[in-house]
Amino acid sequence: MEKKKTILVTGGAGFIGSHLCEKLINQGNRVICLDNFFTGSKENIKYFLKNKDFKLIKSDVTQPIKPKEKIDEIYNLACPASPIHYQKDPVKTIRTNALGAINALELAKKFKIKVFQASTSEIYGDPLEHPQKETYFGNVNCLGPRACYDEGKRCAETLFMDYHREYQVDIAIMRIHNTYGPRMALNDGRVVSNFIVQALKNKPITVYGNGKQTRSFMYIDDLIEAIIKLMTKKNFIGPINVGNPSEMKIIDLAKRIIKLTSSRSKLVYNSLPRDDPQRRKPDISLAKKILAWQPKINLDDGLKRTIKYFRQII
Ligand code: NAD
Ligand code: UDP
Repeated sequence: MEKKKTILVTGGAGFIGSHLCEKLINQGNRVICLDNFFTGSKENIKYFLKNKDFKLIKSDVTQPIKPKEKIDEIYNLACPASPIHYQKDPVKTIRTNALGAINALELAKKFKIKVFQASTSEIYGDPLEHPQKETYFGNVNCLGPRACYDEGKRCAETLFMDYHREYQVDIAIMRIHNTYGPRMALNDGRVVSNFIVQALKNKPITVYGNGKQTRSFMYIDDLIEAIIKLMTKKNFIGPINVGNPSEMKIIDLAKRIIKLTSSRSKLVYNSLPRDDPQRRKPDISLAKKILAWQPKINLDDGLKRTIKYFRQII
């Protein structure tokens, strides 16, 4: 059996972070969750809040991290992920990404431990290459409203690579593509939770633009499996794409959700946010080869589980 580790998860009270904390605790580890509750919630971690192997530190990742005990591994997830939230205070979003990365990396350097970075498909911006491979440098508008997140995440990747090259810090960079599932916040603002909540309330479904832009949606359980696999993989630092390569138009997602919820909702068309990527689909051949991983949960099954969750909390 693996030795019990003490693992720091920044952003552990968020959507992905809470699932990751739960998985790590269930594997027999001790988890320290650091979160400022900007988009995360106590609700997300209530399932294990009282577990003796779980510790919550309410703090901001832009501040130096000074744990009272030895840490064995770090997962750096702290950062609002939904465009409406990361654009609320763009300067803070850049600080969270850059200073958060430095603080996580400094701790990894001090303890000589491995650190995971939750990077993103937004690294590719509005991509001109399709599907996107890890070798693609991307097409990001550094002046636009999404840049605080995109460039913040790009800067974090740079910091991870430089700490690795300069100080030999053991790193793992994962480029996560659109992920959805239970514990997304009701007011998260991203497309899957918006459409499900609107459909369940029989309210208009807000399609931005003409809805012909595409995304590829991965269910949370598939992502968590990939994260754990990457952290146990030796001598591989990434970056690595993780996502579900099954691409679809946003309008088709809306119709699918209306069908699965038997909703009376109608589609309404709102303006397309600036720099909204037109197409997105990960090339996951590297993940298949290096991690022997590919998503197992198809869209309908994932949506049904997510709809069930939102039905309970609405
Ligand atoms: P989320 O907004 O639900 O979670 C983010 C968590 O980070 C929240 O608990 C929030 O309170 C916390 N946080 C934000 N700023 C902080 C700060 N300065 N200090 C401490 N805590 C802070 O988003 P999520 O979907 O769970 O995303 C988690 C990570 O994964 C993010 O880094 C995001 O960029 C990355 N990611 C997510 C997706 C996705 O589709 N969900 C895709 C690509 C990358
Ligand atoms: N979107 C939409 N209606 C919504 C929320 C989002 O049509 O209520 C669109 C958005 O314009 C984008 C896609 O859905 O084209 C995915 O948006 P999301 O915010 O979930 O993630 P991201 O743009 O970061 O991939």
